[in-house]
Amino acid sequence: MNHPASEERTLELEKIAVPAHVEEAIRTLIRWSGDDPEREGLFDTPKRVARAWKEYCEGYAEDPAYHLSRIFHEVGGYDEIVLLKGIPFQSHCEHHMAPITGVAHIGYLPGDYVVGISKLARVLHGFARRLQVQERLTAEVADCIWDNLHPRGVAVVIEATHGCMTGRGVRTPDVVMKTSRMMGVFRDDEKSRKEVLRLMGL
Ligand SMILES: [Zn+2]
Repeated sequence: MNHPASEERTLELEKIAVPAHVEEAIRTLIRWSGDDPEREGLFDTPKRVARAWKEYCEGYAEDPAYHLSRIFHEVGGYDEIVLLKGIPFQSHCEHHMAPITGVAHIGYLPGDYVVGISKLARVLHGFARRLQVQERLTAEVADCIWDNLHPRGVAVVIEATHGCMTGRGVRTPDVVMKTSRMMGVFRDDEKSRKEVLRLMGL
């Protein structure tokens, strides 16, 4: 999502100082890959890579639960599922630091509280913008909503492709990994689970 705030953040990151040892580490990696870090095209690459990684991992600088701290008690008698479907996200796997690209579907059945719908996406990005495994990302998003919003049910399904599988190793480009976490009524009641999965288009 391209919020003005995140564009500002990108501009901020473009200016941050990169310590010499960080640049040197990236030069070492370029050399290890087989190229010459001193050639013209790669000259400014270490700085760019360093700042890019600060941005990929900016989730470490925030507490995703914060986005759920402004909750609304007035639900207007609404007692059906609230669902955000197909939220695009990017993360990086902690085993190869390769990109994980995909979409998340996040749904909950409100108890006494609801939250601004964009906040669910912010929770996702807060956890995604770290080094992750997809299973943990799925669980962290669901647990965060469960613990802070106290809903009757939470359902999180993530579908993603992993750069470490498409670009290396088994090199299988179109494989999508799917993970889910169902809590409350979505775990205990089959009818509710089917309903939320149907709304997710799964
Ligand atoms: Zn990996």
